Amino acid sequence: WIPSNIWVGVGQMTKEDIVFPLAPVYKKAGIDYRQALAVSIHPNGKADSDAPYIVIESTEEATKGQTEELTYDYLINATGPKLNFDATSGLGNGKGELGEHTVSVCTADHAVHANEELEKILEKAKAGEKQKLLIGTGHGMCTCQGAAFEYIFNVEHEARKAGIRDMLDIKWISNESFLGDFGMGGLHLKVGGYTVSSKLFAESLYAERNVPWIIGAHVNNVESGKIHYELLDGSMGEEEFDFAML
Ligand SMILES: Cc1cc2nc3c(=O)[nH]c(=O)nc-3n(C[C@H](O)[C@H](O)[C@H](O)COP(=O)(O)OP(=O)(O)OC[C@H]3O[C@@H](n4cnc5c(N)ncnc54)[C@H](O)[C@@H]3O)c2cc1C
Repeated sequence: WIPSNIWVGVGQMTKEDIVFPLAPVYKKAGIDYRQALAVSIHPNGKADSDAPYIVIESTEEATKGQTEELTYDYLINATGPKLNFDATSGLGNGKGELGEHTVSVCTADHAVHANEELEKILEKAKAGEKQKLLIGTGHGMCTCQGAAFEYIFNVEHEARKAGIRDMLDIKWISNESFLGDFGMGGLHLKVGGYTVSSKLFAESLYAERNVPWIIGAHVNNVESGKIHYELLDGSMGEEEFDFAML
């Protein structure tokens, strides 16, 4: 359950809490489920049949590697994102995966790692060492700002709970055009009889929790303890960090 990665990343949930077998869920709903990898799509069918089909390759232990053809009337191809950390210089490891300088909550394993690194930071803060945390998006074109938003305030909450909030500088950096855009042009919330824009909501929350923000930012280079970015107006900047979740 991917949205719960933001709890794993602060140690409030474990990977085991948020990962569960899907087969029983589909069975209960009466859905014919195959544990398999779709390897090709054939919308025009084949020589002797117009029926569109896909080819799948089993990933189940007992039938691993076996292929099968499945016909369809309507196909939803929902393979999820192909994470591309290498799009930002220094953010990836050269193979498209997460690099060594920052953490991520994109997958459950990333979130487990993020929490391990966060714990080290919180320990240093408890020992009296001021720490700088940078949380947000790692490229001008990336999405999922809402998840980073949830994560920054989970971290901020953990810091207050541990009584070390004053030892942490927590800063937001994102490609949003305005704070509270969340990558979808913002939204309106109904709270206590008032309709509030997410811009007003977010600006109030960040100010109240003492979280300064940089927006309209394309992070274009990451190195150990430092990021470089370009703003929408073409100006350049850099930020140092002890912990960065991008
Ligand atoms: C930290 C975090 C928090 C989020 N919070 C929210 C939230 O609060 N609300 C919200 O709406 N969204 C949230 N999102 C976004 C949401 O999780 C994704 O948009 C959603 O999971 C996408 O669903 P999906 O089925 O398209 O892809 P996925 O959930 O990624 O699932 C794709 C599946 O396809 C499988 N697959 C890949 N290739 C193949 C293949 N060739 N054949 C067969 N299977 C394949 C993958 O293994 C995977 O199991 C969050 C995302 C993150 C990272």
